[in-house]
Amino acid sequence: MDIDVDGVAQQVSTGRLPGWDRVEALVREAHQTYSSATAGAVADYIPVLAAADPELFGLCVAEVDGGLHQVGDAEVTFSIQSISKAFVYALVCETFGHEEVLERVGVNNTGLAFNSVMAVELNGGHPRNPMVNAGAIATTAMMPGATPAEQWQQIRDGLSRFAGHPLELDEEVYRSEAATNLRNRAIGRLLQSYGRIAVDPLEVVDTYTRQCSLRVSARDLAVMGATLADGGVNPLTGERVVSAQVCTDTLAVLASTGMYENSGEWLFEIGLPAKSGVSGGIVAIAPGKGALGTFSPRLDAAGNSVRGQRAAAHLSRTLGLNVFASTARSPERQEQDR
Ligand code: GLU
Repeated sequence: MDIDVDGVAQQVSTGRLPGWDRVEALVREAHQTYSSATAGAVADYIPVLAAADPELFGLCVAEVDGGLHQVGDAEVTFSIQSISKAFVYALVCETFGHEEVLERVGVNNTGLAFNSVMAVELNGGHPRNPMVNAGAIATTAMMPGATPAEQWQQIRDGLSRFAGHPLELDEEVYRSEAATNLRNRAIGRLLQSYGRIAVDPLEVVDTYTRQCSLRVSARDLAVMGATLADGGVNPLTGERVVSAQVCTDTLAVLASTGMYENSGEWLFEIGLPAKSGVSGGIVAIAPGKGALGTFSPRLDAAGNSVRGQRAAAHLSRTLGLNVFASTARSPERQEQDR
């Protein structure tokens, strides 16, 4: 496919998923294989998250043509948490463009915890990337809107367009996090002290806390991811949410920073841009093909869902999703190329 960026025609090559029945069978197989995994622990630093049922397990693959393959608890909703960062980033990129967002938020991994204060200090007050809390709070501050209420409305509407239906705020999660997010408030103040946030940082952190409390399902995550996989067009509604260039930028950031401190290992094992959140969701995107949404609340030490990662590894291999996959040409192709 040819796309035109800055007047330069570019060739884009992504490939296809296997046929419908094969995808359906493999999604079921992944669910069955990993539904007995009990490693990891449910997050509890936001009090209400500790009450999640650790046995919930949902998977959904959304194809770019709108086909959905879902199994298990794929329609159970949970708070989106950090996965919201990916989509708010895309909305801000859509408004401000590549260069300005790069300058203001950065794209490099910190190698430190998602809520690290030290990462901000070590970088002279400049957030390192939009997937850690400092960068995400700075990104939320950039959302269009004259007031925090307008910015929140824009975020909610934007994420709803990615999902293809109105997303609801989980009031209980919002209240629980708002009562305990002292660290995020400290990060907001720190960014303000470095002149990185021009508006009231506590209001920005409040909007950020709301965005993290939007309810989604594994199915929603798959559709949101498939929108990024299809150049910004929602596969269910057909609506263009962001440009193809914004998708490319967002996916590159997710590849290097989306899975907390294990982003490198994830890329090494699974080979897909992805984002996870502490409530147990993961979205993994296969450009041009579709996306996988997973939900299972038990997390590993880095904060990534254990069952979700295993299912993603399985499906990346069996569906042929790894963007770094390299194989020798077939004998027929070698013959043709002679
Ligand atoms: N709202 C959470 C926080 O800021 C998101 C954490 C996450 O999912 O990584 O602490």
